[in-house]
Amino acid sequence: MTSFVDYLYDATCTLVREQHAVKSCRGNTNSRAVGFSGLALGGWACDRFRSLDVVLTNGRLVTATATNEYSDLFTALKGGGSRFGIVTRYEVDAIHVGTAADKTYWGGSINYVGPTSAAVVKAIDALIYSNKDPNTVIVTVVTYSNVFAEFLAIPAVATNLGPLSYNEVSKVPSRAQAPGIGPRATNVYGGSTLYPGQGLFAKSYNNWLNFSTSFKDEVPTAALVITPVFQSQIDVSRAHGGTSFTPPNGSILPLGVTKISQSLRAGLDRLYHEIPRSPGLPLYLNESEDVQDALTTYSGYEKLKEIYRKYDPTRFNVRRMVGPNGL
Ligand SMILES: Cc1cc2nc3c(=O)[nH]c(=O)nc-3n(C[C@H](O)[C@H](O)[C@H](O)COP(=O)(O)OP(=O)(O)OC[C@H]3O[C@@H](n4cnc5c(N)ncnc54)[C@H](O)[C@@H]3O)c2cc1C
Repeated sequence: MTSFVDYLYDATCTLVREQHAVKSCRGNTNSRAVGFSGLALGGWACDRFRSLDVVLTNGRLVTATATNEYSDLFTALKGGGSRFGIVTRYEVDAIHVGTAADKTYWGGSINYVGPTSAAVVKAIDALIYSNKDPNTVIVTVVTYSNVFAEFLAIPAVATNLGPLSYNEVSKVPSRAQAPGIGPRATNVYGGSTLYPGQGLFAKSYNNWLNFSTSFKDEVPTAALVITPVFQSQIDVSRAHGGTSFTPPNGSILPLGVTKISQSLRAGLDRLYHEIPRSPGLPLYLNESEDVQDALTTYSGYEKLKEIYRKYDPTRFNVRRMVGPNGL
């Protein structure tokens, strides 16, 4: 399913982007390691669903939209993941992003090192709390690298900011380009959802730093990704009948290692315990670990269970398939 992307146009939407200056929602990754289905069914990209063709567990093919007889199924598929059927066609709203010649964005990347990370995390906390500009987006990746530890101990800063086209914005380095991340790497994701302005990001940063240094031999690259969800994003989501999620913490095992040791398991569990989600905020399915049972944190959890009972009365999917827990 990794290559199953929106072929109504082309795999990367490059053609559409250049000819019509539009693109589909694709998260903050252009990585071919991430398929459209998993990304869209468990993340914010679902806000742009128009209609979905779904093969139910009884073998029937149905089309679900926000207003037809399968509107409950449509709602469940917007964030509920893979339990409700196999989606074979996505019709999604495209977003106007401009062509490569349109420098309508301002941005780029700023790289900080060492002790300054804590100050950056604090600034992110303040930004999320106070930002009112619906056009502001920021992704923060804090990386602990055992391999480059000696280089990172040398203070340095590199900035690269200026007018950009969407084409260039989407190529700003992100964790998708971080060393070790790719189809052959084993990733372990865990998430939390923190309410800004309460010093929780700074506390999480310290917890994550403790975790990374404790497990530096087992996990050579660990990343703390803070994905602020601004009110404007929630407003857009609500306008599309949407859902709410969370920022992740992640770590990557060395290539070829697919099993988590007992001590690393205990360390991850302790990290999740130390960085609990703020009360009332849901975990984000796409970037939570299975053991975190993201669906159970959704405001629509009871409704999800009801919809699941209706569309899979024999519980075939839960019994026979790997997928989110809680249904
Ligand atoms: C480098 C990287 C960057 C990422 N960035 C983002 C981001 O910016 N935003 C974001 O939201 N997430 C992001 N993620 C998380 C990513 O969206 C999830 O890991 C997602 O589950 C990947 O989907 P997939 O289809 O590639 O995976 P798969 O493992 O193939 O699928 C994930 C789940 O969906 C099910 N599934 C697959 N296809 C279908 C289908 N057609 N119908 C029904 N169920 C199906 C599978 O059974 C499985 O349970 C990122 C992940 C990585 C590795």
